[in-house]
Amino acid sequence: MPLDIVSSVCPHDCPSACALAVERIGGRRIGRVRGAAAQTYTRGVVCAKVARYGERQHHPDRLSQPLRRVGEKGAGRDAFRPISWDEALDEVAERLTCAAQRNGSESVWPYYYAGTMGLVQRDGINRLRHAMRYSREDLTICNALSDAGWLAGVGVKRGVDGREIAKSDLIVVWGGNPAATQVNVMTHVAAARKERGARLVVVDPYRTATAEQADLHLAPLPGTDGALACAVMHVLFKEGYADGTYMARYTDDPAGLEAHLATRNPGWAARITGLSEDEIIGFARLYGRTKRSYIRVGYGFSRSRNGAAQLFAVSCLPAVTGAWAYEGGGALYSNLGLVELDRTLIEGFDRLDPTTRILDQSRIGAVLTGDRRALGNGPPVSALLIQNTNPLVVAPESRLVERGFARSDLFVCVHEQFMTETAAMAEIVLPATTFLEHDDIYLGGAHSYLQLGRAVLPPHGECRSNHDVICSLAQRLGADHPGFAMSALELIDRTLRMSGLPDVGHYPEDGRLDCCPPFATGHFLDGFAHADRKFHFRADWPAIGPAFAELPSFPDHVAVIDDGDPERPFRLVAAPSRSFLNTTFNNTPSSLAREGRPTALVHPAALARLGLGDGDRVRIGNRRGSLVLHAQSFAGMQKRVVIVEGLWPNHAFEEGIGINLLTSADPGLPRGGAVFHDTSVWLRPA
Ligand code: SF4
Repeated sequence: MPLDIVSSVCPHDCPSACALAVERIGGRRIGRVRGAAAQTYTRGVVCAKVARYGERQHHPDRLSQPLRRVGEKGAGRDAFRPISWDEALDEVAERLTCAAQRNGSESVWPYYYAGTMGLVQRDGINRLRHAMRYSREDLTICNALSDAGWLAGVGVKRGVDGREIAKSDLIVVWGGNPAATQVNVMTHVAAARKERGARLVVVDPYRTATAEQADLHLAPLPGTDGALACAVMHVLFKEGYADGTYMARYTDDPAGLEAHLATRNPGWAARITGLSEDEIIGFARLYGRTKRSYIRVGYGFSRSRNGAAQLFAVSCLPAVTGAWAYEGGGALYSNLGLVELDRTLIEGFDRLDPTTRILDQSRIGAVLTGDRRALGNGPPVSALLIQNTNPLVVAPESRLVERGFARSDLFVCVHEQFMTETAAMAEIVLPATTFLEHDDIYLGGAHSYLQLGRAVLPPHGECRSNHDVICSLAQRLGADHPGFAMSALELIDRTLRMSGLPDVGHYPEDGRLDCCPPFATGHFLDGFAHADRKFHFRADWPAIGPAFAELPSFPDHVAVIDDGDPERPFRLVAAPSRSFLNTTFNNTPSSLAREGRPTALVHPAALARLGLGDGDRVRIGNRRGSLVLHAQSFAGMQKRVVIVEGLWPNHAFEEGIGINLLTSADPGLPRGGAVFHDTSVWLRPA
């Protein structure tokens, strides 16, 4: 078979958005996937799961035809029979129309998320939503809390170029595990260590694969990173590491911050975090004496009721030392706000009716089970159109989500690549293309490239892209918008022109446009993004979200977390695994082989108290329910912490429901956000 190398972009929910070089075999299949060396952030490196993308692309379980369910909800593929695309789309359009006629257009809820990060195929569903006045969706599963925290201080969602990690003398990976989930960070860390003797500090509640490689690992209790950051700043002020000149020029209230932190000393933080005073002081001194210090801010410590406040506190550190001003210094949370794209055509903002209600995607369980508050006191949701997500496993409070989907009066259409748990509850399932089979354009949270990814394979079976399905439904529903008459590539082309960027015909030949700003802008030397051009030590929480009452202006520990009680003494972190990405890849042979089985990492002292040994079955639970896992003795964390990695398929659990059975859909402060790592639980022998 002839083999050629084609260019693509990883579409998955990962900040790296790696530039790919894909082996194409005979024009229809793929072999090995490698990184494209010329892209200077990802530098030819991809993670193992995408290197073996052929397992997913050519998986025998890929959906290939539209399906109508004729059997029990949740029973899987055998409960469906094939139908034609016309039959399927006609039925979906009719059911959405009926729902809207019966209870108003807001009773239809298009529901999507980040199964692809391509802007056309991911966000085009919003064009249909706005054209039809369907309910809006508040995207809170991942970054609502972290965005809020970052914007409070910096004012815009961008940071120092990730490639500058290689020029840093101290890299602090805070609340992330890039060795497992975002491998490219480690490429630049390795360069800094080799070429500059840089040190790596990891702050994470457990000894992750990244922490294993660190010079220093700090393992605070989940939900206490804000206290650690405050005590570090206390030491920076007290011991003369704070840069008064920088703060006077670039920050809003350094004197107020110093006074506020006077009582947030290492002893105070030690009591909250469970770290020792020596650990806190040692880290503060290391950070304080290293001007080229780069904090790579992860999402982990934001997945907590106080997550925005925690992330805000950490973002203040380089503003105290003035590290922002140095090459290799500063911080990066995400660069998704770097390129200002006009998304009107893609998302149909010109049809948006601001009076339509907004439903919280994390609270889908409450929404579907008729919670009045979750419904915004509006009509029940009676029809769901779902693309790019698997809420039965991904959303918190799984039992409630399951109950919602079990409603006999709810119509569900799922457009998917596989028969996920959510698809199995649908009336109509439509087969979806992968990124290799459609055109799209991709931003990357970790870098500054805007990358074009073209279809390199024909669609599998009868699969159609998200864009094609949305346009076909729009036609049947009578939705009016010019974007419905364009191909994906035409939409991209027009969007680029409207954004003042090179159009498709003038795009770089390799599909990669580096939008890196000049040094002064990247380091905020021409000002931060608030009206006063200053970094804000005083957060304006009321401007960010309505639930601000419990959030102090200055960085602090905000004690609103689920901190347990005698009944639930353990703190559960439902962390990502190396080989799955949310629920993507949790059905590929090599990912399953590497991950083994659903496992709880439990401290050996806790295991001993339970009378359990390594590998024993353990029941873990709280008032939302309980499930059985296998315990693994793990000493790399505090005794109260329990870690369960990976979103396993529900069928991998003895009782058929996964870890989000235990997590809460309480919205984080101040504007919502899922709190996946803020859960107290009990453990018992199973
Ligand atoms: S590291 Fe992230 S962006 Fe890169 S190939 Fe893997 S999943 Fe895709």
